[in-house]
Amino acid sequence: MKIRTRYAPSPTGKMHVGNLRSALYEFLIAKHEGGEFMLRIEDTDQERFVEGATEIIYRTLEKTGLIHDEGPDKDGGYGPYVQSERMKTGIYIKYAKELIEKGEAYYCFCDKERLASLKTEVVEGKEITVYDKHCLSLSKEEVEKNLAEGKPYVIRQNIPNEGSTTFHDELYGDITVENSELDDMILIKTDGYPTYNFANVVDDHTMNITHVVRGNEYLSSSPKYQRLYDAFGWESPVYVHLPLITDENHKKLSKRSGHSSFEDLIDQGFVTEAVVNYIALLGWSPEDNREIFSLDELIKEFDYHRISKSPAVFDIVKLRWMNGEYIKAMDFDTYYEMAKPYIDEAVKSKVDKRKLAEWVKTRIEVFPDIKELIDFVDELPEYDIEMYTHKKMKTNAESSLLVLKDILPILEEQEDFSNDALYSTLLKYVEEKGYKNGYVLWPVRTAVSGKQMTPAGATELMELFGKEETIKRIKAGIVKLEQS
Ligand code: GLU
Repeated sequence: MKIRTRYAPSPTGKMHVGNLRSALYEFLIAKHEGGEFMLRIEDTDQERFVEGATEIIYRTLEKTGLIHDEGPDKDGGYGPYVQSERMKTGIYIKYAKELIEKGEAYYCFCDKERLASLKTEVVEGKEITVYDKHCLSLSKEEVEKNLAEGKPYVIRQNIPNEGSTTFHDELYGDITVENSELDDMILIKTDGYPTYNFANVVDDHTMNITHVVRGNEYLSSSPKYQRLYDAFGWESPVYVHLPLITDENHKKLSKRSGHSSFEDLIDQGFVTEAVVNYIALLGWSPEDNREIFSLDELIKEFDYHRISKSPAVFDIVKLRWMNGEYIKAMDFDTYYEMAKPYIDEAVKSKVDKRKLAEWVKTRIEVFPDIKELIDFVDELPEYDIEMYTHKKMKTNAESSLLVLKDILPILEEQEDFSNDALYSTLLKYVEEKGYKNGYVLWPVRTAVSGKQMTPAGATELMELFGKEETIKRIKAGIVKLEQS
C-alpha cells in the first residue's frame, strides 16, 4: 500500500511552528517511504478565515521545500482539495445522511436559548455544551415537518451512553474512553458546512490518506472520529499525535513568545533551512546524537516511531546556535545576498562591504547580529581609555600613547595601505623597538575601532578604512590619551 499523508491547515493566519512541524512530519513520513504528500485546505470555519492566509501556506511550503504532490493547485484525482469546494459537491451531507440512516447521527433543531440552558463542561480550556439528546427522540414525522418548514438544524453524532470506544495511536498505543464521556458533537452546522470533526474523517477516508499526523489537542476527540470510521465500516488511518510545543517556561508556545510563527523567525534573521532542521527536532530525534540535517537527510533518517510523547521545548538559544552553523556553512554569495541588507543598514560609508561580510560570517548566529559587530565603521564610538589597558599584552594608557605617537608619522609616510604592507610596517617598528606584537597592535586596533572586540585585526581594519580615516582615528586616540 502506498503511503499517503496530508497537511490540512486551516487558513487562519500565520504559519505557526506547530503547524509547520505537522506539515514537515507528514512530508517526511510520506517521502521516507516513497509515498505521496497532499495539501488540503480546511476552510469550513468561515468565522476564523483570514484573508491572505492561504497564500502564506503556499509560500511557506514552497520556501521550506515541503513540496506537495497533490493539492488545490495540483490535481491528483482526489479533488477538490479545498473543503468549501468539497462541500459544494454534497459529499458531507451525503455521508451525514448515511449516518442518520444507520442511527449513528440525528437532526437537532434546538435553538440558541435551549442550548444556553443546558449543562456545560470545560474541555481543554473551552466551555462546551453537553447536549442532552433531546432531538434524538423526535419522530421521523416531526423531523420531516421541521425540515419542510425550513427550521434551522445541525446534524449530531449519536454516541450511546453505555460502553466504551477504543482507538489506536502509534505513540500512545490503545486509548479507551467511556462513551458517556463523549459528547454528541456537531457534524454539520446550521450554515451547512461540516465541522472539522466530521470533515477530517470523510476527507481522510475518501482521499485515501494512510497516516494522519496532528497536534495532540486532537487526541481527546479521536474516539469520536473512530466511532465514525466504525459506523461507516471504514478502516481508520494510522494516527500519530504529536507532543505539545512549549516555550522556555514550559507554557504552550504562543504569540507572546515572539517567535511562534515561521514568518516571525524569518523576519528575525533566521535561515529557512535551519528553522526546518530545528523544527524537525521538536519531538523527534535520530538514533545518534546528530543534530544537523538537510531536508534530504531528514527524509532518509525520519522514522516516526522515534517521535517522543514528552512536550518539546522551543529553545531559541539552541535555534540561534543552529542558525549560526548554517550561516557558517553557506556558500559566500548566498550568504552575502542575505547579509547585505543588514550591512547596508549599519554602514553608509564607502568601504569594502564584502570584506565586512567575510569577517562576520563565522561570528554571527542570526543576520541582525551583524549590526553590532560593525557599528564602529561609520563612526568611531565613544570609548573609555581603560580599553587601552591589556594585562597580557602589557599595555596601558601610557604605553599606548607612546606607541600611537611613534607610529603616526610612520603611517603618514606609508603609501601602500594594504593589509600586508601595513602589517610589515608595524612589524618592522615592533622589531626595531624590541616590543611584543600585541604591545603595538592592541593600541592601534583600539584607536581605529574604539571597541574591545572587532571582527578583524588592526591592519585589516586600517586597510578597510584607508589612510585618511585611519590617521584621523589614530590622532583622535592620541588626543584622548593626552587629555586623560
Ligand atoms: N485544520 C486542522 C488544523 O489546522 C488540521 C488538523 C489535522 O491535521 O487534522 O488544526
